[in-house]
Amino acid sequence: MANEDVEKTLAELSRDLQESKARLEEAQQVAHVGHWEWDLETDVVVWSDETYRIFGLSPQERPMDLATVRSMVHPEDRERLYQRVDQDLVAGARPEAEFRIVRPSGEVRTVSSLTSERWSSLPGDTKRDASGRPYKLFGTIQDITDRKRTEEAFQEISRKLQESNARLEEAQRIANVGHYSWNLVENRVIWSDEVYRIYGLDSQQGPIDLAKVSEMIHPEDRELVFRAAEEALQSKVPADIEHRVVRPDGEVRTIHSVGTVKRDTSGRPYEMFGTAQDITERKRSEKALKQSQFYLSEGQRLAHMGSWAFNDSGHYWSDELYKIYGLDPQNGAPTIEQYLALIHPQDRASMAETIKRMQEEHCGFDQIERIVRPDGQLRYIRAVAVPVIEQGVFKGFIGTTMDVTEQELLTQELRREQGYLGEAQSLAHIGSWATNFYTKQIFHISDETFRLHGFDPKDPTPLERFFDTIHPEDAAAVTAAIDEAIHSRADFDIREYRVCHPDGTIRFVRAIGHHNRSGEMGYYVGITVDITERKKAEQEREKLRQLEADLAHINRVNTMGELAAALAHEIKQPIAAAVANAGACLGFLAGERPDILEAREAASGTIGSARRAAEIIDHVRSLFKKSFPQREPVEVNELIREVALLLHNDIRRNSVTVHLELAENLQGVAGDRVQLEQVLMNLMLNAIEAMRDAGGDLTITSQPTDDGHLVVSVSDTGLGVPANKIDQIFDTFFTTKPQGTGMGLAISRSIVESHGGRLWATSDSGRGATFRFTLPYEGLMGT
Ligand code: ADP
Repeated sequence: MANEDVEKTLAELSRDLQESKARLEEAQQVAHVGHWEWDLETDVVVWSDETYRIFGLSPQERPMDLATVRSMVHPEDRERLYQRVDQDLVAGARPEAEFRIVRPSGEVRTVSSLTSERWSSLPGDTKRDASGRPYKLFGTIQDITDRKRTEEAFQEISRKLQESNARLEEAQRIANVGHYSWNLVENRVIWSDEVYRIYGLDSQQGPIDLAKVSEMIHPEDRELVFRAAEEALQSKVPADIEHRVVRPDGEVRTIHSVGTVKRDTSGRPYEMFGTAQDITERKRSEKALKQSQFYLSEGQRLAHMGSWAFNDSGHYWSDELYKIYGLDPQNGAPTIEQYLALIHPQDRASMAETIKRMQEEHCGFDQIERIVRPDGQLRYIRAVAVPVIEQGVFKGFIGTTMDVTEQELLTQELRREQGYLGEAQSLAHIGSWATNFYTKQIFHISDETFRLHGFDPKDPTPLERFFDTIHPEDAAAVTAAIDEAIHSRADFDIREYRVCHPDGTIRFVRAIGHHNRSGEMGYYVGITVDITERKKAEQEREKLRQLEADLAHINRVNTMGELAAALAHEIKQPIAAAVANAGACLGFLAGERPDILEAREAASGTIGSARRAAEIIDHVRSLFKKSFPQREPVEVNELIREVALLLHNDIRRNSVTVHLELAENLQGVAGDRVQLEQVLMNLMLNAIEAMRDAGGDLTITSQPTDDGHLVVSVSDTGLGVPANKIDQIFDTFFTTKPQGTGMGLAISRSIVESHGGRLWATSDSGRGATFRFTLPYEGLMGT
C-alpha cells in the first residue's frame, strides 16, 4: 500500500476512532456509566470523563491517584469493597460491587462497578504471564443512586400496598366482608380471601367456577340472586340482597351481598363489583333478641306484670301495663291526673301524695293500692318505682306494676282464717308451734302457745325461755322425753307436766310433737294443750268416785249388818223357844219317873222351833229370789269396769293390779243391774281381801260360750280356798274372817241362779282362787 493510502487510511481510522470514542463518551454520559483503568505496574489510574463526573470531579483534575480514589469511597463501605475485590481476584472471579462514594461536596452517591483484569498488552489475552499477576485492571462504574432511590421508593410503595392490602383483608375477615369483581367481558370472577372463607372454599383452589358457585346458593334463594343480578345489569340500581349459601360441608350461611355494575363510555357493562358479608351471626342474634323480647313480654303477661319508664324523652308503658289498668295502648300512657282518676277513691289521696313526693324528692316507692278499671273492676296493684341516677344526675324513673289481686284476696282470707284459728286455739287452750329443738330455731309459735307459757305474744321469746317455765320437778322428764324423740326421730306425747307462770300460777299442760319426717333432725310440729281444768275435773270426779265406792261399801256392810241383825232377831226367838223346850225336855226326863209324854212334847216343840228357824232362813233366801222383777239389758263389760273403778281405792291400797280380759262386741244380757253389780262387787272384794297385805293380780274375764251363756270369771292370786271348803264357802254364814258375815257368796249364788245361771269356785290352795258364774246369753238384747 502506498504511503498516502496508508496515511489516508490511518487518518480515516483515527477519525472513526475519535467518533466512536465520542459516541462511547456520550453513551456513558447518558447512561451514567464511566470506565477506568489501573496499571498495576505503574499504579497509573486513568478515568473516563463520566467517571470524573460520577465522583463529582472535573475531568481537568486528572490524573487520578490511588490514594484519592480510596479516600473517596464511603468509609463504611471501604474495607468491605477492597477485601471483596481482592478475594474475587484471587479466586479468579470478576469482582462486581455496589458501594457508596462521597463527592467532595459531601454528597453521597451509590455506584456499581464491574472489574476486569488484563494479563497481556494484547486485547483479549487472558493468559497469565510468568509473574502470576495481571498487569492491568479495568472496569466500569455506574451511578445507580437514582435507580436505587426509585427502587427503594417502589419497594416502600409496594410494601405499604401489601400492608394496606393485608389490613383490608384483616378488616374484611373481622367484618366477615369480602369483595369480588366479575369481569363481564371475559366472564371471569376474582374473589378476595374472605369471600372464599364465606363460601367455605379454599382460595388456593384456582379460578372460580361460576356454575359451581351458583349451585352453592341455597335452592330457595337462587331465583332471588339471579333476578337481582339481572336487574342490576339492566338498571343503574345496585343489587342489594340477603341470601343463603350452602357450604360444601352442608353448613348454611346467610350473606348480605351488594353489587354495582361498571360501564364503559358507551354504557356497556364490563364489570360487576361488590361486597359479600356473612351476616349469619347477626341474623341469629337478631332472632335471639326478638325471641327474648317476646319471652319478656310473654313473661310479663303471665306474671301480670307491666313495666314503665318516665324520663325526659317521655312516658313509656308496656303492653301488659295497659292491660292491667284496662286502658287502650292506642291512647298512649295516661297523664298523672288520668292515672290518679283510676286509683280507688280511698287510696287516691295517699297515691297523689306519693307521686308528689316522688317528683319533689326523686325517691322511689313500693306500695299496694287499689284501682278501679274503666270497666268497673276492682284490682289490687303493687307498684314499684325506682329513680334512675346516672353519675349523680337524676334521669327519671323506671318501675314495675303487678296485678296482685289474687294474692291480696288470698292473704286477706288467710289473715281471717288465722284470726279464727287463733280464737279457736284460745277457746280450747291449745297452742300450736313448729320448731327445731336441735338447732333451737322457731318457725311458728301461735299466740295461745305464748299465753300457755305465761308470755306476751308480742315479746320475742327464745326457745330456751319456754323450757325455763317448766316446773323444776318435771323439767328433767320433759327434756328427756324430747331428747329421746329427737334421737329416735319419733313423735312424742308428754301427757302431763306443769309450767309455772311468772305470776306464780301453775298450769298443767300436755305437749304432742310430730316429727317432721321430710325435715331435718329435731324439726317438730306440735301442739301444747292446757289440761289444768280437765285435771281439776278429773280430780273432782276421782273424789266423787271414791265417795261412791265408800258409800257402796258402807251400803254393802250395812245391808249385811241389817240383814244379820234381822236374821238374828228372827232366829233368836225360835232358837230361844227350842232351847227352852229342850231344857224342859231334859227336866221331864231327869226325875225318878221321867215324864215321857211331856218330854216328847217338849222335844217336838224343839223340833218345831228349829224348823221355824230354818224356815226363816229359807224365807230370807226366797226373799232374794223374788226380789228382782227387773229384767233390762245389762252391759256386763261396762259393769265390770264400773265396779273395778268403784273399788279403785281398795285395789290401790292393797297393791293389787287389775287385768281386764273382756270379750269384744258383747251384747247386753237380760238382768238386774243392781243385783249383778252386787255379785261382781262381792267376788272382787273377796278377791282383794284374799290378797290383802301381800298384793297380787286380779283378773276379770268375760267370754260368751257356744251353748248360749256368758261366763264371767274373777281370779286372784291370794290365799286360795282349801279343797274341802270349796263348796262350804257358799253356805250361809260361812266365814273365815273376823268381821265376815258369811252371806256374800250365798247371796251371790242365789242372785246368779235367779238369773238362770250358776256360780262356782275353783282353787289351788295357796295359789289363788277363781270364781266363775254364767248368765244366759242369747245375744238378742242388743244395745
Ligand atoms: P265373808 O266374806 O263375809 O266371809 P262370803 O260368803 O263372801 O262371806 O265368803 C265366805 C268365805 O269364803 C270367806 O270368809 C272366805 O273364807 C271364803 N272365800 C270367799 N272368797 C274367797 C277367796 N277369793 N279366796 C279365799 N277364800 C275365799
